[in-house]
Amino acid sequence: MQKADLPEDEETRLSTLQSLDILDSIEDKAYDDITKIAAQICGTPIALVSLIDQNRQWFKSHHGLSARETPRDYAFCSHAILEKQIFEVMDSRLDDRFHDNPLVTNDPHVIFYAGFPLTVNEHRMGTLCVIDDKPNALNPTQLEALEALGRQIEFLLQSRLTNKKLNERNKTLKKLSAIDPLTNIANRRTLFATLETEFKRSLRKRTPLSLILIDIDDFKKYNDHYGHLKGDACLKSVAKGLQDVLHRPGDLIARYGGEEFIYVLPDTNKAGAAKVAEFALKAIQDLKLVHVASSCAANITISIGISTTLDGEEASTNKILIDQADQALYKAKSNGKNQFQAYLQ
Ligand code: GH3
Ligand code: MG
Ligand code: MG
Repeated sequence: MQKADLPEDEETRLSTLQSLDILDSIEDKAYDDITKIAAQICGTPIALVSLIDQNRQWFKSHHGLSARETPRDYAFCSHAILEKQIFEVMDSRLDDRFHDNPLVTNDPHVIFYAGFPLTVNEHRMGTLCVIDDKPNALNPTQLEALEALGRQIEFLLQSRLTNKKLNERNKTLKKLSAIDPLTNIANRRTLFATLETEFKRSLRKRTPLSLILIDIDDFKKYNDHYGHLKGDACLKSVAKGLQDVLHRPGDLIARYGGEEFIYVLPDTNKAGAAKVAEFALKAIQDLKLVHVASSCAANITISIGISTTLDGEEASTNKILIDQADQALYKAKSNGKNQFQAYLQ
């Protein structure tokens, strides 16, 4: 028995095969229909879609054969992927390369073999092959049909790659559309979607929902004094500092506007929200971002307004919740900044 040489492009061939994410996948009627038709047209009991993995050939479709894989060293398809055209062996018992191959001498007795090499991105992944346990030869019509069906398999394989790329791109786009590009936290869109969901949930479950509106103090002066670029860097640090305050998986931080942020805190009452506000004030003080132009401190500070839903208050809306937090924030500002205030019902 002669083992097939490794293809010259073996490394990239294998990585292309891996990127198809097809090995060990479940059976698929699209492939099974094609092997069934291939066997019928070629008049053979067996037809396979065989993919040549590092040490095995694995069958995506296996019409007329129960095995799902065999060692690569025995595989006729290992020879077939070295060819550009259909690789045909009329009688393997008379062929030096195959006569003592265990697949010839034992079940399934591969006496006749014809395999169309399946090419994806110019690398040959495996074959669409037909097999008989007696000598045979394909006539021109059968050869043409095997090629045409092989191209259909190539199309199926190629569309796996295309779909994968599209899915990845969609995931990235979805992520991008939910995130504020400067601070890398949720944007307004995500904020309103989350707020609506959490608001409904809090009504349904009769649990409190708190909203914390955070505004950087004297940020216009910061920009005027340090410049816009430093201003942007400051926004990033504040967003990160505020983000690190949150620990519950359901909590959300979002950029609400220029230098304004919102926490959405499900299942959190007034007292709980006040605690979070205290932590946020401290987290920003601890950043020690020098702000010589500030009217209230030596470093960057924030002012905070808190609103909390009343138990079972169905008349309230998420917009009212933001308005109430805004009123509380206004109070914090007029009270000297660098503090939190809660909206009093
Ligand atoms: P207050 O303490 O009352 O909140 O005063 P303030 O100056 O922080 O508030 P004001 O609303 O007057 O100004 C907000 C400033 O935030 C205006 C703008 O210079 C700055 N700002 C808004 N968005 C951005 C941004 O994306 N990058 C930078 N660098 N600055 C921004
Ligand atoms: Mg503001
Ligand atoms: Mg401000």
